[in-house]
Amino acid sequence: MRGPHIVLRVFNTLGRRLEEFRPVRQGRVLMYVCGPTVYDYTHVGHARTYVAFDVIKRYLKLLGHDVLHVQNITDIDDKIIRRAHEEERDWREVADAFTRDYLEALSRLNIKVDLHPRVTEHIGDIIEFIQLLIDRGNAYVAPSGSVYFDVSTYDGYGELSGRLSRELWGQEQEFVKEKRNPFDFALWKAAKPGEPWWESPWGPGRPGWHIECSVMSTRYLGEQFDIHGGGSDLIFPHHENERAQSEAALGRRPWVKYWLHTGMLTVKGEKMSKSLGNIVALRELFAKWKPEVVRLWLASAHYRSVLEFSEEALQQAQRNYERLLAVAHELRNILEKGECSFRLSDEGVKTLRMMEGLRDSFYEAMNDDFNASRAFSYVYELTSLAYSRVLQRPEAAVVLRAYSLLEEFNRVIGVLDRVFARAPELPFEQLVEVIVEVRRRLRMSKNYELADWIRDQLAKLGVRLYDRGEETKWVIG
Ligand code: AMP
Ligand code: ZN
Repeated sequence: MRGPHIVLRVFNTLGRRLEEFRPVRQGRVLMYVCGPTVYDYTHVGHARTYVAFDVIKRYLKLLGHDVLHVQNITDIDDKIIRRAHEEERDWREVADAFTRDYLEALSRLNIKVDLHPRVTEHIGDIIEFIQLLIDRGNAYVAPSGSVYFDVSTYDGYGELSGRLSRELWGQEQEFVKEKRNPFDFALWKAAKPGEPWWESPWGPGRPGWHIECSVMSTRYLGEQFDIHGGGSDLIFPHHENERAQSEAALGRRPWVKYWLHTGMLTVKGEKMSKSLGNIVALRELFAKWKPEVVRLWLASAHYRSVLEFSEEALQQAQRNYERLLAVAHELRNILEKGECSFRLSDEGVKTLRMMEGLRDSFYEAMNDDFNASRAFSYVYELTSLAYSRVLQRPEAAVVLRAYSLLEEFNRVIGVLDRVFARAPELPFEQLVEVIVEVRRRLRMSKNYELADWIRDQLAKLGVRLYDRGEETKWVIG
């Protein structure tokens, strides 16, 4: 029905290959994305990853999956504590302020995450999980009261990142004398003076970074789920460590079926990050560019490609956005005012066919590892088609199809919601009559193929047609 590539294939970082996407439970997709450490303003680099996963989620929904998307908020961490000290504020205040900034950024980018668990609300779960790892012999308590994961007890370590030799792990990990191996990582950090702490069986302390994601994903998505995402900067050590501790504790392989990672957003070739001092905060960017333009720019890139921040790219996105908006408005105006012919010409039929071709191509591109950059080119082709054919001598059936197709594409793109949310009060019955009349004429000219297609499409929308000789009756349901 949707061209030759009806199967969605995704690039799994684990194994580095394209795989057919089959969720663990049919029709239900469970997705966990690593969210922010809230110690500073949300920047464009973060947005690159959040928009990419939102596009992925929206596309999965368009395919008919029921998606549950969890994205954590790290609200306790060295960086938050440091900032609070520097500014002589309570660390909770720092975390809350930047959580607010993050949630506002998501809302302006039209991203809806289903669940936003915060680490400090899961300390009890974290302690239980760590205890499980100790009981199973995968973790040990050091003299300071810190607890470490013993990497030598998990045989798959390094597979996700492709760092298969010990030398490659050791270089990246801070070396603390009390660790058994330099690459063991902290699950629980014993409290240091002046730092926030929670009681635990091993003394006062706070969670290490990696453990939170294993715990919160298990809490909300269960012991095995479909997609684990984040930026490619997290593959090692964060995701490698998450995988090791989860598979060790839960005894599930694979714990995560598909690991998806976004390419970095760069400035002059370098990753945009606070530590490099090259960040552009979203709230600053929104003062100059509409959130829809920023979203369109980010959404139009392939999620795995490295994306360079540039004014030109935003200007191009601005032009694309204006074009999409103009076409959506023009189509809607025609429908609202009924300023179109209710006949379907041969040229109109041709345009309908061309639009179905664009739809097939859009799905094919998205099925090819969510290739939004290619898929969006077909959306722009639709806008060209609108100007060159649909809006020239508007015919009701063609205008309506162009409008509904743009609405369908927008379910992934997500920048025209305001146009479609204020969908015009269409004269529903008259429109069905028009379509039925067009179909009657098609049948008279023996174009049964298209007539049947219209009947099937309407049936999917809940409008059933019954032919009695040349007459057609329709009912809803
Ligand atoms: P952080 O707060 O740095 O832990 O980042 C939160 C999320 O944004 C993670 O999924 C990161 O991988 C992602 N991220 C951070 N910086 C960038 C960047 N420059 N480009 C793309 N993604 C990023
Ligand atoms: Zn994580």
